[in-house]
Order: sequence, then structure tokens, then C-alpha cells
Amino acid sequence: MAKRDYYEVLGVERGASEAELKKAYRRLAMKHHPDRNPDDKASEDKFKEANEAYEVLSDAGKRAAYDQYGHAGVDPSMGGAAGAGFGGANFSDIFGDVFSDFFGGGRGGSRGGAQRGSDLRYTLELDLEEAVRGATVTIRVPTLVNCKVCEGSGAKKGTSPVTCTTCGGIGQVRMQQGFFSVQQTCPRCHGSGKMITDPCGSCHGHGRVEEHKTLSVKVPAGVDTGDRIRLSGEGEAGAMGGPAGDLYVVVNVREHAIFQRDGKHLYCEVPISFADAALGGELEVPTLDGRVKLRIPEGTQTGKLFRLRGKGVAPVRGGGAGDLMCRVAVETPVNLSRRQRELLDEFRQTLEGDSSHSPKASGWFEGVKRFFGDL
Ligand SMILES: [Zn+2]
Ligand SMILES: [Zn+2]
Repeated sequence: MAKRDYYEVLGVERGASEAELKKAYRRLAMKHHPDRNPDDKASEDKFKEANEAYEVLSDAGKRAAYDQYGHAGVDPSMGGAAGAGFGGANFSDIFGDVFSDFFGGGRGGSRGGAQRGSDLRYTLELDLEEAVRGATVTIRVPTLVNCKVCEGSGAKKGTSPVTCTTCGGIGQVRMQQGFFSVQQTCPRCHGSGKMITDPCGSCHGHGRVEEHKTLSVKVPAGVDTGDRIRLSGEGEAGAMGGPAGDLYVVVNVREHAIFQRDGKHLYCEVPISFADAALGGELEVPTLDGRVKLRIPEGTQTGKLFRLRGKGVAPVRGGGAGDLMCRVAVETPVNLSRRQRELLDEFRQTLEGDSSHSPKASGWFEGVKRFFGDL
């Protein structure tokens, strides 16, 4: 059967643009798609015919050969340019590939042009004081920026990138076997649709160069580990004139010698003497705003928490400041003098046989007694 003219198949003028071809092909392919016309031989033939016509006309080289020599210029059986090995694949497999590529639309708009630059991440180490009060920090970030010599085009000054001859600027090439074809990213231009014949010497044709840039980051008061500060447009430069990505500064708060932080609350441990714990007294405890006095009542046990309201952290997302929790730890006295030993020994004798001074110990001995009694 004689082949119809490819332009006639797609219903376009001979001078049709790439966009017009694509539109016409898409319309026909949707209409005659075998999934929509099961067991309809006429539709299947029309579909294959449209596929073949578009495969040739969407390729600048094949289209030129077709315009000059007609079907003979592109028919693989006539020794033309078309046809890459694709033996034995089954119809529906290839079909799925063609369509997911062609109608999927999930390419992020990257085909044939501008690409947004990547987002970058920078880990910012802060002291607890900086995180709590806020700070302005200078950071140096390695990043790709547009090459100043070629203004990001990648082409030598005075030249510009030309349309890729392999894919005709589409960024995709079609592998063809008979009626079936599969699209893939053009191996020559890697999908950009453009070729640089005379690369810029400064960036070797990449259009972007690596540079360190210095940025001043305003860290708001109250940030915590894991918080992110987004610096819009400070990421990598885009390719082919695309917009720059963003820079995410991720906060990591260093461990503090005195305070542990849990959200908006701070914790610290305060050692107290055995005598202060027993008699009560006044302690000096550290806060982020300086020292404050803390009254300890008599009979304070080790491990007791004292809450200092509002001496924690004001969270970055708002809300009142948290509290500072001071955990007292009774310290056993060491390096005792003879006199101190005598006093303590005397003291110990006064305790003998009287459990009322040791609430914990008496409770504990009661428990032990019950435990052995139950055995
Ligand atoms: Zn350059
Ligand atoms: Zn290409």
C-alpha cells in the first residue's frame, strides 16, 4: 500500500512549526489511541500512520530528508536515516513508554530550556546563647553562579548556542522500529535542545562556575536545632537562564556546658551542700541573663526540681518564654578535717534508732522487710 504524505497524515501545511506538528500529532494520537478504540483495525492503522509521520517530521534531519526525497529519504528499508535497533519488543510495552513520556507532563518543564537551580542546604552551628537571643551570622557558601564571561549561556563571548541538530531543539529523540517509537532524552544536548559549538573558556560551556559567596544571615531569637531559615534565590544559579534555587540554612545548636534545652524549657543541675540541703539556704543559680538567688527550704532532697518561671527560652514561633528548671544535687563532703569528722560522727550517733529523720530510708527498709516477709 502506497504511503500517504506525512504532512497530509497529520493535516498540517508543509511549513508547519514544531509546535503545530506536535499539536496535530497529539490530537490524532489521542483520537486513534488503541486503548480508546479496542479491536478497531482502521483506528490502529491511523494511529501507527500518525506516529510514523510525526517521528519523521519532528526530527529536523529526517524532515529535511523527507522534504527533499519523500518517503525514500526516510524509509529504513530504503537505507534512509531512520531506524534504531528495537527487536522483539511487544506492542503494549512500547506503547506505555511512548505515552508516559509524551503525555505524562511530569518533566518539570525542563525540556528544551531553562532549569531552576538546585536548592542548597547549609548547616549553621550556633551557641545556645545565640540561638536564644538571635544573632546576625556571616556564612560562606559554595555555590554555582552564572558565569560572568558568557552571562550563563556557556557559549564563547560573541557567539550563542545553536539548536541541537540531533533532536531539532526538542531535547528528546525517538528510537524507531517500524511503527513503534520510544522517546528518550537527547544524548547530545542532554535535553536542553541547544548545542554549544564554541564553548566559553571560563566555564567550559557549563554556563555556571563554582564560587564561594558570603552571606549575612539574620537568625531570629528562639530558634532551635532543626529550624530552617530560607534565603530565597540564594541557592544555585539556574541553567540556561532559569531562576536560582533557594538556600536553606539549617540550625544546629551546640551543647551547652551548663544548660540542656528541651523546647522552650532549660534544665540545669545545681550542686548543694549536705548542710544547705538539711538546714535550707540561699543558692546562686545561673540563668542566661545572669545569676539569680534561689531559696532552698530545709529538708530538701537531692534531685528536687526548682522552677524559675520565664527564665527559659522565648520560642521563635511566639508564645511566652519557658522556664528554667534547676535540679539540686546534694554533694557528699570530702577531705574532712579531724574536727569535721568528730562532728559528723557525733551527729550520726544522734540519728541511731530514730527513723524520723530519714523519710526515704525508712520507706526503703519497710519495703525490704515486706519483700523478705513475702518470700
Ligand atoms: Zn562562561
Ligand atoms: Zn538535542
